Amino acid sequence: MALEQTLDGCRWVYNYFLSIPPMSEYDMNYALTELKEQHPWLRNYHSKMLQMVGKQVATARKTAKRKLSYRYHDRFNTFTYNQTGFRMENNKLALSKIGSMNIVMHRQPINVKQVTICRKNGRWYAVVACEILRKQYSSIRYSKPVGIDVGIAKFAHDSDNHIVENPQFLTKMLKPLRRAHRRVSRRQQGSSNHRKAKHMLARLYEKINYKRRDFLHKTSTYYCSRYDLIFLERLRVANLTRNHKLARKILDASWSTFNTMCQYKANRMVEVEPAYSSIDCHRCSQPVPKSLAVRTHSCPKCRAVLDRDYNSAMNHLQNGLEMLHLPVERREITPVEIPKESLKQEFHIVTYGLPEKRAQACPGSQ
Ligand SMILES: [Zn+2]
Repeated sequence: MALEQTLDGCRWVYNYFLSIPPMSEYDMNYALTELKEQHPWLRNYHSKMLQMVGKQVATARKTAKRKLSYRYHDRFNTFTYNQTGFRMENNKLALSKIGSMNIVMHRQPINVKQVTICRKNGRWYAVVACEILRKQYSSIRYSKPVGIDVGIAKFAHDSDNHIVENPQFLTKMLKPLRRAHRRVSRRQQGSSNHRKAKHMLARLYEKINYKRRDFLHKTSTYYCSRYDLIFLERLRVANLTRNHKLARKILDASWSTFNTMCQYKANRMVEVEPAYSSIDCHRCSQPVPKSLAVRTHSCPKCRAVLDRDYNSAMNHLQNGLEMLHLPVERREITPVEIPKESLKQEFHIVTYGLPEKRAQACPGSQ
């Protein structure tokens, strides 16, 4: 297949550039023309596309912490057409020196600048980069701002008291994943059964990834279509995952991807510092310290009783509006139903300052 062949050609060039001493991108382009003299078969590939391989090597050298290693067949999966050599219309993609092929278009791209072809689990994808104009924010009046608090127990709780449950795609699939991993490790390395088991495992991870992305797209679209100003807390996921007991659940929730999606979909999205947002009372700013296991916020000063994530979301909203020097409206909260026992326990902690209960297995956001 022409695509496989192109990939192999690119891989050869990539490995060639690794075998010689590092040089600048410009020099690599020059070296390519000389290389074509020695190896005329390289002329069968689009020249700009081969130059992009040089760029790939240069970027990899810049970011890599270790020495780069040669790429074998299954470790080299992409090539890129930049600016020239491609045409896209009527569900067909034409690539220079490769030919025309049918594709499934998920949306209509405009002003395409770059097409990257990648192979993943035996399927081929075309990733398209387009140039679009950035929105201007100044002189826009916002009519519907919202604050969102993300967590593990619930994926999101916003300042309108809307709750999005956490689907926990990875956690639900742990059993089949374990089985698939076991199958891979029990097959003899290099055998075709080993290869098949590896493919099955990769498909399983791919499936989880697709489900998660679908969920994140739907959730971010929900917020971006209803609100014109979104406040999200600034999360340092790398720091949070140092807690190994929570790391998997935190990464499974993919807050960063949600953040990125909101950033490009929303009219405007602003990150706010999350410090003290779960402790301070949103109504009177009284600090009410609580452990992760305590799920309700009950203020001894103004007697506000509400879900702790709801309180955080309200704080995000107010902090964000203050940060942008916009008028802060004090919203009346929707009262929540809280079981009597937890209420008793809460006041116990607040009024007498007794040692708090230790965080239990499944705490939510901070
Ligand atoms: Zn209060």
